[in-house]
Amino acid sequence: MSLVQTKFKTTQFELSDPALFRGFSYIGGRWTAGAAAQMFAVSNPADGSHLGDVASLSAKDSIGAVDAAQNAFAAWSSLLPQQRSVILRRWFELMLEHKEDLARIMTLEQGKPISEARGEIDYGASFVEFFAEEAKRPNIESVTSHLPDAEVEIWREPVGVAALITPWNFPSAMLTRKAAAALAAGCTVVAHPSAETPFSALALAELAERAGFPAGVFNVVTGSAPVVVEPWMTDKRVRAVSFTGSTEIGKLLYRQSADTVKRLVLELGGHAPFIVFADADLDKAVAEAIKAKFATSGQDCLGANRFFIERPAYDAFCSRFADATAKLTVGIGMDNRDIGPLMNDKAVAKQREHVADALAKGARLLTGGDQHKAGPLFFQPTVLADVPAGALIMHEETFGPVAAIAPFDTEEEVLQKANDTEYGLVAYLHTQDPRRIYRASRALQFGMVAINRTKVTGAPIPFGGMKQSGLEREGSRLGMEAFTEVKYVCRDWA
Ligand code: NAP
Repeated sequence: MSLVQTKFKTTQFELSDPALFRGFSYIGGRWTAGAAAQMFAVSNPADGSHLGDVASLSAKDSIGAVDAAQNAFAAWSSLLPQQRSVILRRWFELMLEHKEDLARIMTLEQGKPISEARGEIDYGASFVEFFAEEAKRPNIESVTSHLPDAEVEIWREPVGVAALITPWNFPSAMLTRKAAAALAAGCTVVAHPSAETPFSALALAELAERAGFPAGVFNVVTGSAPVVVEPWMTDKRVRAVSFTGSTEIGKLLYRQSADTVKRLVLELGGHAPFIVFADADLDKAVAEAIKAKFATSGQDCLGANRFFIERPAYDAFCSRFADATAKLTVGIGMDNRDIGPLMNDKAVAKQREHVADALAKGARLLTGGDQHKAGPLFFQPTVLADVPAGALIMHEETFGPVAAIAPFDTEEEVLQKANDTEYGLVAYLHTQDPRRIYRASRALQFGMVAINRTKVTGAPIPFGGMKQSGLEREGSRLGMEAFTEVKYVCRDWA
């Protein structure tokens, strides 16, 4: 069996560096198919074609990855922060040098338009650059002693081995956002990428090896999630778990980590409200609504699901938003259309279910509504108006290109509706009134509030949600906290 997949080279999307297209797991500085050498197939969601095979590791192999990470921990955590920073910085530079190949791999396995994939590589690399710098500032607080003849110190130390579990919708950035923070803190890492999109993570492992991470510091274990991840949850050597994915699996990992009292970072589902008051700049609100709904073909935890429009602006917003939606192009990501395929059949079925349910409950279909002719995993960009509060789409994450709009009459009413959800990741607000901006930003129970714009993310900001959208924050200085322990030392001078 070859360590590097060859099939990719025969496609029209040749890579400049085919060695980035790896199919084996990366453990202890070695590429491995595991003891049983079992493989699973990964396909391109745009056309169902076979992209390559990936190693399906066993629970025993997965524990072997923790062994490797544990063995590497003492040396990695003892390096000077500046030494860790140099390796992280090199990893960042390699990501940018290989941006085009990394973006192509992502588009082929995930389906997103190639321009969005390039954007994700920049975004993902920015976390590596940011934490390469933060590695040098380990945030040691200092306090004056409260005891006579004693000196007190407060240190931050890396927790140990960190397990990272990442989803398919941002297969590169979700891994670097976690790994760069953990590695900068001095932790070693075992990572499980989604079986739908493992090639992006394996390409990052290839670049990590070239960047000079010592063997065992960064491990990527592919295979069935329950098989690979469960042993990490019960292993007391794994001291921190950082997960991005659904609230359902997040809760499972929360329960599984209780017995060994692990540090937990959970970045879970979202159900973003998009609120437009009648005094908003409507052209801008429509343009931002298109971005908030249809980026990543709607498969984004930050994706707007529920559009609440103040009644005087309602008809104008509905017709302009529906017109702009109908103009979006749909097709394969390599052709850089606006909307690519959904990840799997389950996602398509969910769009159908949410549309049918809303229509049955009295909603109006303004555009789209069904599967797209581009292929079985493509869905038409869809807008539903007059969607009643009882429709499924007003309560569940749709995770696809379907928008639901409803009117509102008062500020109090819309804030109550926006907060009427178990999720609390991001809320979008459009208004020109500064006092309302302040009141609403305070009242919205969301970890992030975007005012008169959609893009708010970046390495220096604390990304994360309230309520059942998660625990802790990623990015910013806060992103390293879960990977460190606080130690208090008190010395007697007498
Ligand atoms: P998912 O089904 O929860 O999967 C996420 C990860 O968990 C994948 O690696 C998956 O592996 C793994 N997994 C599945 N079952 C598992 C189990 N029993 N034990 C351990 N790991 C398991 O979520 P998804 O459908 O991939 O992603 C969509 C969800 O992620 C949405 O709810 C979205 O809002 C959320 N999300 C949140 C953020 C954020 O930052 N808040 C960002 C992106 C996405 P397999 O894929 O191999 O099964």
